[in-house]
Amino acid sequence: MPDPVDPSGVSDLPLDDLVACHECDLLMRKPQLAHGEKAQCPRCGYELYAHRHNVVERSLALVVTALLLYVPANFLPIMQLNLLGHSSRDTVWSGVVGLFNTGMQGVAGVVFLCSMGIPLLKLICQLVVLLSIRWNIGRNYGLLLYRIYHHLRDWGMLEVYLMGVLVAIVKLADMAAITVGLGLVCFISLLLVQVWLEVVMSPHQIWQALSGEDAHAGD
Ligand SMILES: [Zn+2]
Repeated sequence: MPDPVDPSGVSDLPLDDLVACHECDLLMRKPQLAHGEKAQCPRCGYELYAHRHNVVERSLALVVTALLLYVPANFLPIMQLNLLGHSSRDTVWSGVVGLFNTGMQGVAGVVFLCSMGIPLLKLICQLVVLLSIRWNIGRNYGLLLYRIYHHLRDWGMLEVYLMGVLVAIVKLADMAAITVGLGLVCFISLLLVQVWLEVVMSPHQIWQALSGEDAHAGD
């Protein structure tokens, strides 16, 4: 566990040696971690950061998986609806086009950005950041893209979209025959892979690797 720092003595310490708890704001001296170790806040028990094995390789594998799932998740049917003899197969993309064609261009734009545009941009940022660390090129661009990625995180709302789809399925189930499509399976898989990626791609190690403090983030 890291040592808490006396607030009166903080000004003497270099900023790089300090870490603050996200949950309770306790200021601590940054501990050096060995592989597989975690640093926890001594006051509230929050995990400050962990030093994981093969962060770059594992994250790259997950980013590539997510990018492969992205296309079927957005362009294969999420569900098939049979109502009074009419049958329709809806994809995320056809939902955006449908909103646009019914005069709701603004809503179509927001749905497109939050469910397709920003999630793709996030994945591309993560891919380029990881490749810049892996191949040791363009670290400055990597830093810039990783900053952009942290801003984009708040705007990608796949889980909100998924909730919308699930609510629609439950509400419509009594009125129409609904068949869940392969697109929904890919969409849920994409969501799970992204959550896993968030866990594996430890920001602490990525920032360190990008700023050149730790050339062995991939170890
Ligand atoms: Zn804390």
